[in-house]
Amino acid sequence: TTKESVDHVDVLIVGAGPAGMMMALWMARCGVKARIVDKRGSKPLSRQIFNGQADGLQCRTLEIFDSFGFANRAWIESNHMLEICFWNPDETGKIQRSGRIPDTIPGISRFQQVVLHQGRIERFFLDAIESTSPIRVERGVLPTSLELDASLVEDPEAYPITIKLRHLTEEEATPKQVATSANGVVAQDGLFRSNLAADDTAELLRGAELNSKANTVETVKAKYVLGADGAHSWVRKQLGFSLEGESTDYIWGVLDIVPITDFPDIRMRCAIHSANSGSIMVIPRENKLVRLYIQMTTTEKTGEASSRADRSKINPELILQAAQKIIAPYKLTYRTLDWWTAYQIGQRVGTHFSANERIFLAGDAVHTHSPKAGQGMNVSMQDAYNLGWKIASVVKGTSHRSILKTYEAERSQIAHDLINFDHKFSRLFSGRPAKDVMDEEGVSLEEFKDAFQKGNMFASGIAVDYGKSIIVAKPSSTGTLENGTSESDLAVQTAQSLATNVKLGMRMPSAKVLNQSDARPWHFQERLPSNGTWRLVLFVGRLGLPECRQEMTKMCEPLGAPQSFLRRFTPQGGRYDSVIEVLTVHAGPRTDYTVFDFPKVLRPYDEVDGWDYNKIFVDDDSYHEGHGQLYEYLGISPDKGCAIILRPDQYVSYIGPVGDYESIDKFFSSFMVDQTTRN
Ligand code: FAD
Repeated sequence: TTKESVDHVDVLIVGAGPAGMMMALWMARCGVKARIVDKRGSKPLSRQIFNGQADGLQCRTLEIFDSFGFANRAWIESNHMLEICFWNPDETGKIQRSGRIPDTIPGISRFQQVVLHQGRIERFFLDAIESTSPIRVERGVLPTSLELDASLVEDPEAYPITIKLRHLTEEEATPKQVATSANGVVAQDGLFRSNLAADDTAELLRGAELNSKANTVETVKAKYVLGADGAHSWVRKQLGFSLEGESTDYIWGVLDIVPITDFPDIRMRCAIHSANSGSIMVIPRENKLVRLYIQMTTTEKTGEASSRADRSKINPELILQAAQKIIAPYKLTYRTLDWWTAYQIGQRVGTHFSANERIFLAGDAVHTHSPKAGQGMNVSMQDAYNLGWKIASVVKGTSHRSILKTYEAERSQIAHDLINFDHKFSRLFSGRPAKDVMDEEGVSLEEFKDAFQKGNMFASGIAVDYGKSIIVAKPSSTGTLENGTSESDLAVQTAQSLATNVKLGMRMPSAKVLNQSDARPWHFQERLPSNGTWRLVLFVGRLGLPECRQEMTKMCEPLGAPQSFLRRFTPQGGRYDSVIEVLTVHAGPRTDYTVFDFPKVLRPYDEVDGWDYNKIFVDDDSYHEGHGQLYEYLGISPDKGCAIILRPDQYVSYIGPVGDYESIDKFFSSFMVDQTTRN
């Protein structure tokens, strides 16, 4: 039976993996009308089987989770990885520990890398989405056609995309287990007896409800579509885009086991290179589990996908045997196998990330690579984290569509960086260790350790540095001044000299500050929740200095005026901080001031709620948590201060003097929609 109905949504998300969930969460937080569908069924068991892969959470990802309010759940449940140990063969060929480095570079974030099962992470997303919005993941729902009316793409009111959705029966939506591994063997999965699986009762009931729609077809009209449907992306294929790159003959097996071993560093992250038997990466996980990535072949050949090696002969027993050879003379076995798989290394990036800035791709749908560096899930979520607020602000009519072009510019750069990183990293990892300095074909320990250390900065997600665009006011890279210095260098230096450790295009670093009104310490980043708001942060310096007070007044007079950008870009009836929030951090001392010493525009007033006490902060000593020294940490002079604009995703858009209202107005005016002239 086929029943026709038409639904209108602002955003339709195809795929409920990490990328799709992140998008749905933004839509939930920004109050956008969205639907998210996934072809997988609602049976918890089948869902979990297909979720068993990613587990590493990088520190930037945890910062993002925190901005949505659930980093604490991941932090508490996960295993924390603190140290990486390198094991290499000695002169006799026996493996020995040859070095140690911290797993996360100390000081780059208030979080460190942790490991937790992907199913739990998706659970946190579901809870966060459902607690704040009516959006529900619709399982067993599959798009069957996708059309984009190119004549309507620039019309903000139009729904240029037509999608047909088919609701499957429970049976159709439950994937056959044999399909789960490429080798045709049913994957062993112990998750049904693992305490990691959350209670899915509510979801099951909802599944039954959805089932009443089974085998209906409906038409959806959407303003925007996100294809977050994984490496085999159906959306990508509809758009005619492809992934470009290469694959290798390196085959790796993955075992999630509770190991029984005399290897002393089994609870550390380890990179083990044996003399002649290949390599292992050890990832200690939650619940006594350890994940082992084990090299199965040692020959390398680049080429077409069709030259893929035969994986059909791989099974857990063979993977274990390979591991035992590499780790010898230490003994390794297990009684508990939680999950296993095998994969072939390949690195590919999509040719396009969007069609007409109406249909977008994110996550594995636009980039695939080897899983060892623990990047796929993190980068996939971060794609959608980059895109979600942009689409939300366009749909809500506060930003022009022009900002949507920055998605491809920013994220395809990251995808290429990731592919290059993974390419290098995988080859070093799969390579044979050098026997001595004359052994040019082998990988030297130094080379490997160096790559690991550099890779760690990249892998943390903190190194992301978005290029100049309408929303990142990096100076132009053209033009040379008469004295030979380039304009860009000069302008960067001017901006950067005001805040030497805050980098345009990078995420805002964090240290502790105190709330001026109640002396409570906060990590500054905690004051930047992901709710779709831009932030103007005024580091007004030491108010005891007349220059600092003057600059503050110079900013606040026009800022408080009826024609200020705060008023022009906030929709009628919208809260004063719903589009741009102004935060102030002064350099103390705290006890010399109260909030009433600051201009009114910095402590907004609401007729019902009174003064807003969460806008003014101070860099000063706390009673119980020390002194954050935020000014010093950010490289801001307390005698001068500076103004910083942060995007809704905490990336730094602009740095300038506190009193330069004009430049800031100009910045926002280039992409925000004037609400006073909007029909
Ligand atoms: P997916 O997770 O693939 O989700 C896509 C979703 O779309 C699925 O739910 C699917 O059912 C649905 N779908 C597909 N087609 C359709 C359709 N036509 N219609 C409707 N729905 C559809 N990453 C890390 O960050 N850290 C790690 O430690 C890590 N370890 C890994 C280990 C292994 C062994 C493997 C294989 C991968 C690992 N990864 C890791 C990578 C990570 O799993 C992926 O990069 C990540 O899941 C990608 O997220 P995604 O949302 O883009 O796609």
